[in-house]
Amino acid sequence: MSNEILGHVTCPFCLSQAKVKRNRNGNLYYHDPVCGPVNNHGDAFPDWIEDNMIPISQEPEPVAASKPDPVPADDHIEPMETEIEEPEPVRTAEPKPTPVQPKSEAGLLL
Ligand SMILES: [Zn+2]
Repeated sequence: MSNEILGHVTCPFCLSQAKVKRNRNGNLYYHDPVCGPVNNHGDAFPDWIEDNMIPISQEPEPVAASKPDPVPADDHIEPMETEIEEPEPVRTAEPKPTPVQPKSEAGLLL
């Protein structure tokens, strides 16, 4: 029995869940998929692990490496319309044309 998983901590660097283990010398360290094994020889490191780890015995169920489902892409997103208003041509004495009525309103006028 070597490198028994004692619990889990959230890696402060990559925020992934790391497995807490004990090395041959009996020192605590953790291992996460991003950072790999993280060791520190100072006294504060094992203290930090003990303070932050969730021991296996206290975990309700072993977490099967389940990642949250990615948010499905919303295929109803319409591309943003970029309307570029062209400068109005300079009119002479012509009266302004009445704006085109939408069909629904035009029907009421008939
Ligand atoms: Zn990490």
